[in-house]
Order: sequence, then structure tokens, then C-alpha cells
Amino acid sequence: MKPTVVLVGRPNVGKSTLFNRLTRSRDALVADLPGLTRDRHYGQGRLGEKPFIVVDTGGFEPVAKEGLLSEMARQAREAIAEADVIVFLVDGRAGLAPQDKRIATMLRKEAKAPVYLAVNKAEGMREAMVTAEFHELALGDPIAISAEHGEGVRQLIEDALAKFP
Ligand code: GDP
Ligand code: MG
Repeated sequence: MKPTVVLVGRPNVGKSTLFNRLTRSRDALVADLPGLTRDRHYGQGRLGEKPFIVVDTGGFEPVAKEGLLSEMARQAREAIAEADVIVFLVDGRAGLAPQDKRIATMLRKEAKAPVYLAVNKAEGMREAMVTAEFHELALGDPIAISAEHGEGVRQLIEDALAKFP
């Protein structure tokens, strides 16, 4: 079984950029499953000989909006339920946002898979500086990456997949 890596995070943090980078290889495309997925994109990545499935979640909103459990919230929960590993992306340039805190709270409560906190857009920034404020999300040591430039991405995926044969 290929492990499934699910990318979550508020809009604009770089989930799709990371998805594209991870799935760029020749046999990357996996058909989206109509009806089942709506708001999720599936792709195949490869780490050395190890294939894995990557899931890009579109709009990610973990909390109820205006008293109603939104479709997005439902999608978010479905996505994390099918994860073997969750990569929670935040934006190191924008800094810690209220929505990051809400997603973190939901993940700490509901995620059964291990969560890797990746601080994106960190190119050209000192790792300790760009990650500092994200420790308060209490999801382990934040890992600085640049999805656009590729920095830190391989290390992140190696760590995330280390426990899978
Ligand atoms: P999503 O909404 O989470 O899927 O985010 P996108 O992948 O669409 O990226 C949102 C914006 O952030 C785009 O303008 C990207 O070019 C930009 N972006 C993504 N990754 C990086 C990065 O590593 N560094 C910088 N500087 N910008 C990035
Ligand atoms: Mg996107």
C-alpha cells in the first residue's frame, strides 16, 4: 500500500505549489475519483523507489461557518481521515494567522496520522527565525521549506515517509 500524504493549510500557503512539485514526475497523475473527492486532487509522488499518494485539499476551513458545518469543513475532515501522514503548511512570510491556529486545534483533536508542520516560502530566510512563532501551534518542530524553490522538500518527505516501508 502506498502511503497517503495529505496537504492541509489555509488558502495561499502553497499547498498546490508543493503538490505540483511532488507530483511532477512522469507517472504522477492519478485520476481524481469523481463524487468521492470534489475538493481534493490526487497525485503520485516518488521518493527514490518509494511511491506515495499526495492529496491537495482545495479550500481548507476546519470550523463551522455561521452555525453551519460547511462543506469545506466536511471535506477537510474526510481528507485528514484518509491520511497516513499530514503535512500542515503555513506561510513563513505572512506569519502565524488565526486560521492556522484553528486548523492546528482541529488537527490536534482529530488527526490520527502524524502531522508535519512545514513553514513554506522560507527561501532566503534563516530557519530559526522563520519557524520561531510557529512552535506555539504545538505540533512539533516546524520545518522550513520552499515549495517554489524546492528547498527542504526532499528532507520533509523523507522524514514524513521514514516509517513506511
Ligand atoms: P494554496 O492556496 O495553498 O494551494 O497556495 P498556492 O500553491 O496556490 O500558492 C499561493 C501563492 O504562494 C502563489 O502565488 C505561489 O506562487 C506562492 N508560493 C508558493 N510556494 C512558495 C514558496 O515556496 N515561496 C514563495 N515566495 N512563494 C510561494
Ligand atoms: Mg491550492
